[in-house]
Amino acid sequence: MQKEVHRYKVIIVGNGGVGKTSFITRYVHNEYLKSYKPTLGVDFFVKKLDIDNGSRVHLHLWDIQGQECAMNMTSTFYRKANAAILMFDITQRKTFEDIRIWKQDIDTKIFRDTCPCILLGNKSDLKAMQEVEESEMKNLCQELGFVHYSEISVKQNFHVKESMNILVENLMDNT
Ligand code: GDP
Ligand code: MG
Repeated sequence: MQKEVHRYKVIIVGNGGVGKTSFITRYVHNEYLKSYKPTLGVDFFVKKLDIDNGSRVHLHLWDIQGQECAMNMTSTFYRKANAAILMFDITQRKTFEDIRIWKQDIDTKIFRDTCPCILLGNKSDLKAMQEVEESEMKNLCQELGFVHYSEISVKQNFHVKESMNILVENLMDNT
């Protein structure tokens, strides 16, 4: 019997350089990008998953490139998104502070009742340069209503898949 396929559009946002493209590349191809190549436009990747309950999930991951500023984002990027990943760099405080702006942009441009969002603080391998406390992440997560927060390291492949599994569980619960 043909398995039912659940298709979800997942957008990933956050300031330039936080590791969004590296994250997607790690998650989809299990590779790590060392070079930083900002290009302009929107890229999109598909990750296919088989879930324990027998369903099949296709995640359509939308990545922005180049001038990552919430003010510049078009509504096409956000249109019909089912979930969002908001990412910052734990070594760059400004990228954490700008999460509020990204969340505001999502709230005004995604016209859905349920759009689970997760908060990811990347580059946990650079602990010595950490500028954001875990307690601050936790507070922001509660305040803005994210379904999950986690410190991750795309470089060390730490909490990448685990965080995505939580997002997928939330997506499945909503449908
Ligand atoms: P984007 O602009 O948000 O798409 O960021 P990129 O994925 O292009 O990454 C920006 C830079 O951060 C690149 O040089 C990556 O190699 C680096 N980077 C990404 N993830 C990590 C990580 O977990 N740890 C460290 N130390 N560097 C990372
Ligand atoms: Mg990028």
